[in-house]
Amino acid sequence: MKTQVLLENIQVSDLFESLSSAQKRLVLHVFSETLRALTSSFLRRGFTWLLPVVTSKATDPLWPDPVASIEARPELELYGERVRLTQSMILHKQLLVAAGYEKVFVLSPNVRVERRDRAKTGRHAYEFTQLDFEVKGAKREDIFRLVEGVLSEVVEHLEECCEKQLLELGAELEKFRAPFKVYRMKELEEKYGPDWETLASIESSEPFWVTDIPREFYDYEDLERGEWHNYDLILPEGYGEVLSGAEREWQYDKIAYKMRRDGVSMDSYRYYLELAKRGVLVPSAGAGIGVERLVLWLTKRSHIAEVQPFPRIPGIVTPL
Ligand code: ATP
Ligand code: ASP
Ligand code: MG
Repeated sequence: MKTQVLLENIQVSDLFESLSSAQKRLVLHVFSETLRALTSSFLRRGFTWLLPVVTSKATDPLWPDPVASIEARPELELYGERVRLTQSMILHKQLLVAAGYEKVFVLSPNVRVERRDRAKTGRHAYEFTQLDFEVKGAKREDIFRLVEGVLSEVVEHLEECCEKQLLELGAELEKFRAPFKVYRMKELEEKYGPDWETLASIESSEPFWVTDIPREFYDYEDLERGEWHNYDLILPEGYGEVLSGAEREWQYDKIAYKMRRDGVSMDSYRYYLELAKRGVLVPSAGAGIGVERLVLWLTKRSHIAEVQPFPRIPGIVTPL
């Protein structure tokens, strides 16, 4: 379905019609089975599954971001205190690991008020869910192997449970070989220019890793070598990024230095910084998988609205 047609179709009056369509039921069945396979796979690997927080005084700043896209950072007042809606649970994950939950994951709803023009990318919603996980003491390669294993199991499960539904959707299941290829962001930028994510994704027929991406203070940066120990997983065929993650900063001096350097308000992270100063944080690595984007790719839809029961498209607020 063409994005423009789809955007017109989900204008308000057709929301219920879209929800009742046979196609949406097929997609949401595959969604449900993808969640079953994802969560089972992490549980089998010894992860603890915890529930998310939706409000918090400290959430992901989503800054600095080379392709900043956030129009507003909603706050509300609770019991006389200002709190933010969760943009990601990265800081909570670090504290969970520090508190002894050595392998942990959360299905975490994120509210990000994306710029309206992002409705056209087909992969941005203003509410979505990450399967956000963190592992104490892990390194980049540990996370690569973990994610490749989990994705293989998801595809195997869908082959067993959902062959008929996927066939009806015209979605051939992905065959991919692990380990996935790994590129540095700079080499892709040199080859494709600033829109490397989309262009490299269109050209590729398998998922691939991208490392060394300058971004938020909590991703580990080797200041001497000028390298970031972080990564994105990019899906093929133009589906783009489905996961971001990193090895983490845990030392107070470095975190404080990077916050000052990047103009992040230290006041907003006072408690997190206090804990870092007390030496509570520990080395870890993790990532967040955008579950709508994963299903978008698996079901070969063209817009994220097609995989959300109640679409949350930038710029369009529906009555439900
Ligand atoms: P993008 O560059 O595509 O806007 P991001 O790098 O800002 O995404 P992250 O902060 O890395 O996003 O979020 C972790 C994961 O959550 C992403 O890899 C993606 O799968 C998913 N995600 C992020 N933003 C959105 C969104 N607006 N709608 C749907 N999924 C999203
Ligand atoms: N979930 C991501 C991570 O683990 C952070 C983010 O959502 O921005 O690094
Ligand atoms: Mg990202």
